[in-house]
Amino acid sequence: MQSDTIAAIATPPGVGGIGIVRVSGEAAFSIVLPLFRRPGGEQTLPPSHQLTYGRIVNPRSGEVLDEVLVAFMRRPHTYTREDVVEIQGHGGPLVLQRILRLVLEHGARLAQPGEFTLRAFLNGRLDLTQAEAVMDVISARTEAGLQLAMQQLQGRVSARLREARQTVLGVLARIEASIDFPEDDIPTPHADELRPHMLTAQRMIDELLAGAEQGRLYRHGLRTVIIGRPNVGKSSLLNALLRSERAIVTPIAGTTRDTVEEVANLRGIPLHLIDTAGITPTDDPVEQIGIQRSRAAAESADLVLLVFDCAEDFTAQDRQVCEELLRLGFGRQDKVTANGRAGRPVILVLNKIDRPRSLPLEQVRRFWPEAPLVMTSTLTGEGLSQLEETIANLVLAGRALQDDSVLVTNLRHQEALRLASQHLQAALATLEQGLPLDFVSIDLQAACHALGEITGETASADLLERIFSEFCIGK
Ligand code: GDP
Ligand code: ZN
Repeated sequence: MQSDTIAAIATPPGVGGIGIVRVSGEAAFSIVLPLFRRPGGEQTLPPSHQLTYGRIVNPRSGEVLDEVLVAFMRRPHTYTREDVVEIQGHGGPLVLQRILRLVLEHGARLAQPGEFTLRAFLNGRLDLTQAEAVMDVISARTEAGLQLAMQQLQGRVSARLREARQTVLGVLARIEASIDFPEDDIPTPHADELRPHMLTAQRMIDELLAGAEQGRLYRHGLRTVIIGRPNVGKSSLLNALLRSERAIVTPIAGTTRDTVEEVANLRGIPLHLIDTAGITPTDDPVEQIGIQRSRAAAESADLVLLVFDCAEDFTAQDRQVCEELLRLGFGRQDKVTANGRAGRPVILVLNKIDRPRSLPLEQVRRFWPEAPLVMTSTLTGEGLSQLEETIANLVLAGRALQDDSVLVTNLRHQEALRLASQHLQAALATLEQGLPLDFVSIDLQAACHALGEITGETASADLLERIFSEFCIGK
C-alpha cells in the first residue's frame, strides 16, 4: 500500500453540471472530514459508500467554498483499494480548483496522470491489461471499440494470456526440476512429453496474434485520405460519408483550412476521414503550404479515396494527382493493416454521376488497373453505401466483429506476443535439435517474461511509468 494520499480533479476540465475531486490514500478520511460541514454540525464519519450532503469549509477562515455531496468509501471496495473520498461540487473549474487546493493544503499530494489506476494495479485490483483498458474505454470512438475495451477491462484478454503463460510455466517446471535435482529420482523429461504443451502454448499465442491486426483496426481506425484535383467533390464526399453513417463527428483540434479531419463510424471502425486541398503543383504560395500538408496526410494514410469528376474530361491535374500517388507507393497492394505499412490501397471514386458522363474510364484505368471503383453522387446519395461496402470489404476481408470477440487491440501487447511467439519457436527448435534442456529453458523463460509483461506480472518500473504517464490526470 502506498503511504501518501493523492488528490486530483477527476472530471474533465471546463464547465459541467457537477465536478468531482477525488482523494485516495491512508489519510483520505482524516484530511477531508475536517473540511466537510454537515447541516446539523455533525463531525463524525458518515456511512461508507453513501453520498452525504454538506459544505466544504476552509477551517481556518470559515469561508464556504461550495455546497457538495461527499462519498467516503472505506477500502478495499474502492477504485484504488485504498480509502477514497469523492467530493462532488459544482462543475466550475475555479470552484473545483479551490476545493482541490484546500485538500492539498491539508496533507494530500497532487496525483500524477493515471496514478489512481496505477494504485489499483499495484494493489492488485486490476492487472496491466485491465488498467490499460480503462483508458481505452474512456477514449473509445465506436461501439465496437468500446466492446473490445470492456472485454479487456473484464479480464478476458488476460485470462487467455495467463492460460498460455501457465502452460509454458508447466513445461519450465518439469525441465527445471530435472536440472536442479538430477541425482534424485526426477528423470529428464523426454522431448515427446514437452513438445505437445509447447505447441499448445504456441497455438494460443498465435491465435491472439492473429486477431491483433483486426483489434487494432477497431481501436485506432483507419486514416482515410480523400484526394483529387479541386472541385471534383472531395469535401462533399466527406460530408456525405459523415452523414450517412450517423457518424460520431469529432472535430480534431489543430485542423487547418487545408486539411480537415473527421471521424466517421464504418461498421464499428473509426474512419478518420481527411479532406485534402489537393496534391498537384501550384504557384500560389498559400496553396503550396496546403499541398505540403496534403502530401504529408497522404503519406501517412492507410487508404486513399481518389476522386474524379465523371462529368468532365481526364485533365492534366487528374494525371498529376495519379502520378504523385504512385510515387508515394499507393495502390501496389490491396490489403490494409491498422498501421498502414503492409499495403495502401486506392479506391477510385467517380463522382457526379448524376450528370452526363464524359470521363474516359480507360484513362483512369491506365494508372489504376486493379483498384476497386465506385460511382457516386454526393448530390443524390447514389453509390455512397456501395462505397462504404467497398471500404469495409477491403479492410475487414469478411471478418466482422462477433459479440464475444476477444481481441488484442494494444500495440504493446501485440509486440510482446510476437516476442513470446519467437522465443517459443526457438525453444521448440532447440528441443528438436536434441540440445540440453537448459537451452530450451532459456527461451521458455524469455517467453514467460514477455507474456508476464503484458499482464504486469513481470513489468518493470520503467514500463509502468511509460504506460501510466499516458493517462489523464484524475484517472
Ligand atoms: P472539392 O474541391 O473537391 O472539395 O469539391 P467540393 O466538394 O467543394 O465540390 C465542388 C462542387 O461540385 C460544388 O459546387 C459541389 O456542390 C459540386 N458537387 C459535389 N459533388 C457533386 C455531385 O455528386 N454531383 C453534382 N452535380 N455536383 C457535385
Ligand atoms: Zn474541398
